Amino acid sequence: YTGGKVGASLLDVELQNVYKFFHQELAVNGIDVNIRRGEFFSILGPSGCGKTTTLRLIAGFERADAGKILIQGEQMNRVPPYRRPVNTVFQSYALFNHLNVWDNIAFGLRLQKLSRVELNSRVEAALKLVKMETMRSRFPTQLSGGQQQRVALARALVNRPAVVLLDEPLAALDLKLRQEMQVELSNLHQNLGVTFIFVTHDQKEALSLSDRIAVMHRGKIEQIGSPKEIYEHPSTAFVADFIGDTNLLAGKIAHSDRSTLQVDSHKGLKIVVQRHDYTEPTATSAPVMVSVRPEKIELSLERPTIRTNCFAGKLLHVMYLGTHVHYLVKLDSGDRIKVLQPNTGNTLSDTDIPIYVRWATRDCIALKASGSE
Ligand code: ATP
Repeated sequence: YTGGKVGASLLDVELQNVYKFFHQELAVNGIDVNIRRGEFFSILGPSGCGKTTTLRLIAGFERADAGKILIQGEQMNRVPPYRRPVNTVFQSYALFNHLNVWDNIAFGLRLQKLSRVELNSRVEAALKLVKMETMRSRFPTQLSGGQQQRVALARALVNRPAVVLLDEPLAALDLKLRQEMQVELSNLHQNLGVTFIFVTHDQKEALSLSDRIAVMHRGKIEQIGSPKEIYEHPSTAFVADFIGDTNLLAGKIAHSDRSTLQVDSHKGLKIVVQRHDYTEPTATSAPVMVSVRPEKIELSLERPTIRTNCFAGKLLHVMYLGTHVHYLVKLDSGDRIKVLQPNTGNTLSDTDIPIYVRWATRDCIALKASGSE
């Protein structure tokens, strides 16, 4: 397979101010995305946010109502799907049940009038890539879900597309198989050097596989960044809440200086937030959302000596998760705070006991309240 790796600065797919309406509904609302050559790029968001429509616009199954779509520098808006250098792997696999594995993979190539030798060698290479050499004669109904998924992948790769579009390709698999296929997909991507655009609503999957992620919400892109950037520096309350789990506390800026913000939450908590960049709201009385990840919060039965961001409450609920324990604490202010701690064997089990939560100023961030909705 010769999907040559090229400099990462080159762009493979560009969406410029793209809109797509369905009747009155704006499924894609003016998005700008630049996807680099060879990148594993994920589009992540809740159901109905416009992920699949975006992918179908790139594939050419939908036509944009406004904006430009470029693939490898060429405008694609009017180019039909089969003439675009992309191939799609669907969640449903879309295999032909009357054809065996080998013929399913060869199907698209047969239309290309290749020599028999060329056809054979390409199908064999694709079979090998997805480790299905021994199953070439089986029919789709004789394969497991994971094996069918491999055939669907091989069929998309056999045409040597510049860009592979994957629409929730692992959604139908059970957890264990899904994790195995995630590793395989990642290896495949690394070996091929081809651009992968991956649609998923599963934030863990997007975090673990992607070079960069675009988080979509109601037809718009909320943030594009590496998994680390998205998780540690979400730019809106929506992103903070959707990626991983978080506690969001609404309030107003009481005071700000160069390095910290003091936030008075609506329920009366005085929170100190270390500034991360200079995009946080700083004006006195500006509405903000403070986000604190559950794993950043300490729990203690005794009142900690450090009083900053330390609040008293009662333990409401304990959920045992094996590697971790999830606690729900009701603060005296009325806020409910989620806390996640590694399971050290000393799990608290009595609910209703007085308890303190505390977090470091650097472990919370202030976000514009407008993005929260
Ligand atoms: P899911 O994760 O549930 O697949 P999604 O993020 O992929 O969701 P889309 O399928 O892109 O979302 O849909 C975006 C919006 O556009 C939805 O509100 C959907 O109902 C609407 N939509 C999508 N396709 C069509 C269509 N062919 N006709 C009319 N409305 C559509």
